[in-house]
Amino acid sequence: MKRHNFSAGPAMLPVEVRQRLAEALAPSADGSPSIAEVSHRGPRFAALAEELEHRLRALMGLGDSHALLLLQGGANLQFAWLPMNLAVGRTPAYLISGHWGLKALAEARRLGPAEVVGSSERDGFRDVPEVGHLPEHCAYLHYTGNETIHGVQFEQPPTVAVPLAADLSSEFLSRPYPYADLAFAYAGAQKNLGIAGLTVVSIRRDLLARIPDGLPRYLDYRSWVESDSMYNTPVTLSWYVALEVCRWIEESRGGLTALAERNRLRAERLYRCIDESGFWSNPVAPQARSVMNVPFFPASEDHVGRFLEAAEAAGLMGLKGHRALGGLRASLYNALDDDSVETLIDFLGDYERRFG
Ligand code: PLP
Repeated sequence: MKRHNFSAGPAMLPVEVRQRLAEALAPSADGSPSIAEVSHRGPRFAALAEELEHRLRALMGLGDSHALLLLQGGANLQFAWLPMNLAVGRTPAYLISGHWGLKALAEARRLGPAEVVGSSERDGFRDVPEVGHLPEHCAYLHYTGNETIHGVQFEQPPTVAVPLAADLSSEFLSRPYPYADLAFAYAGAQKNLGIAGLTVVSIRRDLLARIPDGLPRYLDYRSWVESDSMYNTPVTLSWYVALEVCRWIEESRGGLTALAERNRLRAERLYRCIDESGFWSNPVAPQARSVMNVPFFPASEDHVGRFLEAAEAAGLMGLKGHRALGGLRASLYNALDDDSVETLIDFLGDYERRFG
């Protein structure tokens, strides 16, 4: 039976990338080391690092105006690292469209004042908020491009006259995106860029001058710019996988434009199936629905356990909703096959006919 992995992250890898990873780690007859067993300062890893930066920059459309950093610590570390570096003596502003935006805000507030300039919390995060009045001496406006738990996505970055900072964790490389227009962007790799451990950050170089002196060196972005992201030992295997994923996007999937169209069409099919059902529902306003993460709810929460059991038995995995929200969620990342989405749609119809 074929298994279909809808996990929100760590999420499935493209089959081709799994194959490459297996080959890369397979024991060699003569004992020569794998990519995970060589120095990150040696020529073999240096070539990998160079190609990875080149490919990521091309996919993101980033030029010299931005530094591209390959870090660790996930998006959660960026929630604090960003304000620690760029909000000193200025007030950061936050747009809140779900769980992760709230977490980013809470971390910023541990370091100093931060203002909410728009939030859709009052109506249960069913839409993206409008941008209200920005503070004077605004450090940046932070938003979460795609709220992975609530399934709320900004179609485009907000239009404002201050630097934009975006958590793009769960939509990174799912479509062409104006990364070069953002002052700051970050994403963990464990959704669309491979395996956990690696966090991609892009930062407009002119902002580096705002970083206060005296920070721990690890937590000063300049240390990472100056060391080509090798201030300390990088997560070498995550870099390897990220490079294979970048190659796969270009060579097997025809690039981000083709992926984006495919991703949009199949998300629309799933939302249509949910909307046309009298049993399943998704509360998010149509214009703000996420293309990557589709939360959905049965007529009664009592169905969740039974549904998950039946789904697992049918090979549909990773559909449990986040504990903060309950219900169910299907994550439709790049590596998921179209036939997995079709199988889910059929399964939802079947379940409704049997138990609805
Ligand atoms: N932000 C978003 C939008 C996420 O989806 C996630 C994880 O799912 C996080 C932040 C937290 O990421 P990490 O576990 O890499 O810190």
